[in-house]
Amino acid sequence: MSSSSGDPDRLVPSGPGDLTFQKQLEESQWWSSERMDEHQRRELARLVTHALGTVPFHRRRLEEAGLDPSRPLNGEGWRRLPPLTRRDIQRSGDELCSTKVPSGHGRVITTKTSGSTGTPVSVRGTMFDAMVGKAFSLRHFLWHTHDFSGKLASIRRIRGERYDYPHGLTESRWGDTATFPFTTGPAATLSIGASIAEQAEWLARQDPDYILTYPSNLRFLAAHCREHGITLPHLEHVITMGEVLNPETRHECGRAWDAPVIDVYSAQEVGIIALQCPASESHHVQSERLYVEVVDDHGSPCGPGQTGRLLVTPLHNYAMPLLRYELGDYAEVGPPCPCGRGLPVLSRILGRERNALLVAPTGERYWPAFGSRKLTELAPIVQHQFVQKSLDLIEARLVTERPLTSSEERSLRIYIQTSLPHRFAVSFAYCDEIPRNASGKFENFVCEVTA
Ligand SMILES: [Zn+2]
Repeated sequence: MSSSSGDPDRLVPSGPGDLTFQKQLEESQWWSSERMDEHQRRELARLVTHALGTVPFHRRRLEEAGLDPSRPLNGEGWRRLPPLTRRDIQRSGDELCSTKVPSGHGRVITTKTSGSTGTPVSVRGTMFDAMVGKAFSLRHFLWHTHDFSGKLASIRRIRGERYDYPHGLTESRWGDTATFPFTTGPAATLSIGASIAEQAEWLARQDPDYILTYPSNLRFLAAHCREHGITLPHLEHVITMGEVLNPETRHECGRAWDAPVIDVYSAQEVGIIALQCPASESHHVQSERLYVEVVDDHGSPCGPGQTGRLLVTPLHNYAMPLLRYELGDYAEVGPPCPCGRGLPVLSRILGRERNALLVAPTGERYWPAFGSRKLTELAPIVQHQFVQKSLDLIEARLVTERPLTSSEERSLRIYIQTSLPHRFAVSFAYCDEIPRNASGKFENFVCEVTA
């Protein structure tokens, strides 16, 4: 399975687990931005030609925007193309699917996701695109020092009773041979349906070298382990994925196990978008496989230090080309990385638009900063979730070790109010556990206000 045969200038694997491709990626990470631009222009031109010819939805839009794939695409003309939203995907259905997927791209695979925005969409991809994606998973493992003979413990959303607590499932290798085309140590996987206490007990039994899980899960897990003195003596580092990783989670993981966190920024619909730099906590966009734009409210590209909406164009999905797909995430553009890699830098990634932004009474939206780390200094809070019930009311849902005193409530209220850009009323609701959302993940802020 390959679309590169007879086309030696393409930067794609020639088959599953192609280590020659990894060697090429070792080189391309140091390319100048001009050289990477050139690569992206070529891949975009191929993709747009394909979309014009076989995807009715895009044909209309590309023609309206006056885009001609024979001219350079990743510039001003490209920005005339309206971003593709989740609503567009919901509404257009088959119109977005290619009527003629190149045969070399293999079987078409459908992924259903509700994302963090709660807008369910079905996205199609191909075996070829999946194979490219796996190569970038391996790149993460090669960028950061891993002892591949060690044990990898994953706690994630996965179907099947065999992954349930108390045993989970232990397998002889970290993943399939397309991702890891060499011998590895064992992998143990537990369904995230297990409680935090169960996960901690399971991890202590596994004694892993590496943990892979979601940031929010990690945070509660690390806190639990710290509080209960659960150490993981062989743990080298933790890998996070699937949600935005915040500095508090890194901090909590360091306190619990003295272990760093290495983040993979991905979205189910498009796969890996950016990998944490081996030399810093910034992320490098994986430009060989996606064209990523960060744009301001007017659609203009953001410069270093500016934060804007992320638009991604996966370059190898020919089943359902996503041109300028608006994920709902925001990112801050970083300056060139001191590590010397030419891949663009995202210095901060901010979570999804709909559930994560606070709406002020003025209608303005704010990134909600509740100063979560300090909260636990004010009261014995085990778990918390903030729910914006209306334009002037925040409900703090709390799981606490014991009932709070009225003076603790008062200081919490004042602290929350002063952390926010406008004066909100704050109510408290106490519960035994804050349930995960439909995707099996925690959300620490939910906005129930419909704009
Ligand atoms: Zn770097």
